[in-house]
Amino acid sequence: LHQVLHGNESGSSSKNASLPSILLAGPSGAGKTALLTLFEKRAGRSTSTSTDEKTEPAKTHTSQTPVSTKLNAAAPFSSSSTSVSSPSDNQPKRNFLLIDTPGHPKLRSTALSHLLPLDPKSGRPLPPSSKSSQPIKGVIFLLDASTLSPSSPDSSLSQAATYLYDLLLSLQHRYSRYTKGSKHPPSIPVLIAANKLDLFTALPATLVKKELEAELGRIRVSRSKGLLDSGVKEEDVTAGEKEEGDDWLGEYGSESFEFRQMVEFDIEVEVMGGSVLGNGGEGEGPGCEGWWKWVVERV
Ligand code: GDP
Repeated sequence: LHQVLHGNESGSSSKNASLPSILLAGPSGAGKTALLTLFEKRAGRSTSTSTDEKTEPAKTHTSQTPVSTKLNAAAPFSSSSTSVSSPSDNQPKRNFLLIDTPGHPKLRSTALSHLLPLDPKSGRPLPPSSKSSQPIKGVIFLLDASTLSPSSPDSSLSQAATYLYDLLLSLQHRYSRYTKGSKHPPSIPVLIAANKLDLFTALPATLVKKELEAELGRIRVSRSKGLLDSGVKEEDVTAGEKEEGDDWLGEYGSESFEFRQMVEFDIEVEVMGGSVLGNGGEGEGPGCEGWWKWVVERV
């Protein structure tokens, strides 16, 4: 289930609406709540101006709505830092929002609608700018690398790849459908964060990349076949304007899928391993400083 934090929801505040934002997406159980909690602990306190912020550990509850947490990109992150500066006063503020989104398959449209807003009436995509002023600077797609191996009995590969396919396709549509003159909307890079690398069953980032590319390629083929075999699918009817190749991710007609094909649509995709837990003490995980750096460079 999607768990969110009480205490500093800031989505409703108009002051925060124009802050640069990072979208946090990924299947349930990937560790999104854990990551949000960690980032908040490291970089959340010093920035929050809201008076209702709680200092005790965040209470969790289930929710269908995304939750934004305000973070400070200038906050010190490394736990090994010798100068144990309390994350406060003398840090210049570079606030941004981390928007957590539900991972349940039925609720994934929440995340996708941030990238490709839909008209509530017609269900058709709207131009990216017409929904909100929140400039999305990047997407973290978090997944559980410890269950990703296709040979593991409860492999999460197909589930994670299906979600990723839809996410990347939304970004591809965002790029190719909405141009102003010859201008495309600002690009949104994607970080595929392979989590739980502290566990021995976890695949390293290079393998995560390989498995995902292979699975995305399979999905691409089966979706294009589906379109040929059964004519038009139900959800396509609502959109009404699907063209051939519209569901095809990456280079059209290419034999196998590779993330670098997304560059054609101005989408930078990077796969980086890490661990939210087993970081700074008990475990052996690589931590998630690399993810934090990726974020800080983009907000
Ligand atoms: P969400 O559904 O994406 O929000 O996932 P949660 O944050 O609720 O995490 C799901 C489970 O994975 C929890 O039991 C976490 O403690 C666990 N978890 C998250 N990150 C890690 C990690 O880096 N290593 C390990 N071993 N477990 C993790």
